[in-house]
Amino acid sequence: MMEEAGLNLSGFLKNLAARGIENQRKESEEAGGPPDYIGEDGLLYCGKCHTPKQTILTGELFPEPLKVATTCKCRQEAEERRKAEEQARADMEQIKRLRINSLMDEKFRESTFDTFRQTKNNARNLRLCRRYAEAFPEMVKKNQGLLMYGNVGTGKTFAAACIANYLLDRKVPTVMTSFVKIVDSADLKNRETANAFISRLNRARLLIIDDLGAERGTDYALERVYDIIDSRYRARLPMILTTNLTVDEMMKCSDIRYSRIYDRIFEVCYPMEFKGTSWRKAEAARRFDDMEKFLEGTL
Ligand SMILES: [Zn+2]
Repeated sequence: MMEEAGLNLSGFLKNLAARGIENQRKESEEAGGPPDYIGEDGLLYCGKCHTPKQTILTGELFPEPLKVATTCKCRQEAEERRKAEEQARADMEQIKRLRINSLMDEKFRESTFDTFRQTKNNARNLRLCRRYAEAFPEMVKKNQGLLMYGNVGTGKTFAAACIANYLLDRKVPTVMTSFVKIVDSADLKNRETANAFISRLNRARLLIIDDLGAERGTDYALERVYDIIDSRYRARLPMILTTNLTVDEMMKCSDIRYSRIYDRIFEVCYPMEFKGTSWRKAEAARRFDDMEKFLEGTL
């Protein structure tokens, strides 16, 4: 009985091995290229990479050594390349979807640490922002956000967008929007849709909201701003906020509608000051200089 079963199994394996070798022969015929050959050890070798396409199996299962098909080196490498390409395509698709869901303005797509124009005023912030992005998993663990404050045009939004793009490229769900957009959005019209909207925002690992303080100052708008920040805080998910307000203004604010918002922010957001002449002003001054030189014929 046992012997019969053993014979059957061995016959089955032999059959399987023979089929594998036959398939291999057909495939290599179809592929063309330099023909395979039998090596000194009696095994089939790949004509292209000169590594074996067969191996001998021995052991308890095999009453006699069994020749089976195996993958040669060039074929293995081709398979690995195909898998890597497939993975890269899947990654690209995922990043594309994340970008669509990021709500990010088209104009910030190209804001990256590589295109960050470094000046003596922003060198430190550039370093800090890069460090923040690189250490993001740790920042999530610590529920650590950033508060980027400073005058208009000092590059806060650009810096925040650099972090967003860095993370999106690494498949970290990130949303970047502004307080004005949020408060004006139809999603916030009533409490129910507002709650759904906020939980959607909280699916992002990082939420970046631009321009705190620029939103309408109605009670309703401020309630929603508080809800968004508070729910983020409770979910222990980091946020980056930008504002033209000074830390002093925020600290000394006596209006409870605002101060409870600011208190939450200071608890979880590290304040980072952006200084220097407005980039827009600097750009205007440069254009003025260029034009002056041009008109005077010195350019
Ligand atoms: Zn090969």
